[in-house]
Formats: sequence, C-alpha cells, structure tokens
Amino acid sequence: MNLILFGPPGAGKGTQAKHLVKKLNGFQVSTGEMLRQEIQKDTEIGKKIINDMNDGKFVNDEIVNQLIENIIFDNQKKSNLIFDGYPRSLSQAKNLDIILNKSNQKIDYIFFLNVNKETIIKRIEKRKVLEKRLDDDSVTILKRYDKYMDTTQPLLNFYSKNSNFYEIDGTLKIDEITAKIDAFLKV
Ligand code: AMP
Repeated sequence: MNLILFGPPGAGKGTQAKHLVKKLNGFQVSTGEMLRQEIQKDTEIGKKIINDMNDGKFVNDEIVNQLIENIIFDNQKKSNLIFDGYPRSLSQAKNLDIILNKSNQKIDYIFFLNVNKETIIKRIEKRKVLEKRLDDDSVTILKRYDKYMDTTQPLLNFYSKNSNFYEIDGTLKIDEITAKIDAFLKV
C-alpha cells in the first residue's frame, strides 16, 4: 500500500507520516528530508540545491524525480511508501504515476491536510525554534506558501476526482488527525 500526504508547508504531513510508518511498517518518502541530508553531507547535489532550498524555491525536477525513482526501484523500500512533500507539481504527479506503473504499483490513498495560512505561520514559527531550519524564517515561509498556492495546490484538481482522495481538517490536533486517517484506512 502506498499513500500520499498532501498539503501546504506546516500542514503536519511529516508528523502524520511518522505515525503511518509505525502503523504500516512503511517507509517515509520525504523529499525535503532527503534534500536536507544532501546539504548536510555536502554532496554534489547538496551544493547545487542549497541556495534554492534556503530561499524557499523548488529544487529542480530532475534531481527530485531521480531521488524518488531510486526509492521506488529499491527492493528494500518499494512498498508501503508514504509520500510527504512529493509530488509538488502536476509534472511531478505525472512522473510519479509513470514510475509507479513501471514497478507495478499504485497510490492507494491520498490524504489532503487542509490548513489555513494563519495556522501555518504560527506552526512554522514554533518549528523554527525547535528545528532551526533556515527556510522556516518569516520571509521564506511566505514565499514557500505562495509557491504552494501557485504550483502545488492546483494538483488538487488532478487528485480530488479520485475515489481514494480524502480531505482532512489539518487545523485539528495531531491525535485527531491521526484518528481520522486511521478511520479512512481500510487496514
Ligand atoms: P519540505 O521539507 O517538504 O517542507 O521541503 C523543504 C524544501 O525542499 C522545499 O521548500 C523545496 O525547496 C525542497 N523540496 C522538497 N520537496 C520538493 C519537491 N517535491 N520538489 C521540489 N523541491 C522540493
């Protein structure tokens, strides 16, 4: 079973992904986390992406799609994938379909955590103190939010027609969101 956690930055996708990893014995596919690790390890990819990431811009598709492809074709990780932060655009969504098809897989659930801008800003201000992410500063988060609205949110037209699409109020408490996800999952 594979699923997508969809929503703006600060929607709680990472938090719910961690819960699902435990529940489904799954694997969290957080492109943001993978990219931060590239920067931390100062790899060639890390050097290429550091400026865009810290500036709240998207990393280019070629790099991100390759990371996703490596995971989907990795025999150790290839099932029970929990996508968190990917896909973020229509072209990434189409790419994901193609790669999953090639490996005889599909997306079983799409959970949209719907959160308003005020809640996002409050949450990210808290996260900034805890995680010290450079892209969580008050100017960059607004850029990331705008990019989400322009490029990622339109993907809802693509996904919301599917019978496996579920919208959840992402302003609820963590445990309440988890309970809603669990209720939708037929496992
Ligand atoms: P996140 O941890 O999901 O908030 O992502 C942090 C940052 O990583 C984003 O602001 C982008 O710079 C980059 N990033 C993560 N996922 C993607 C993606 N699917 N496509 C392009 N850039 C991404």
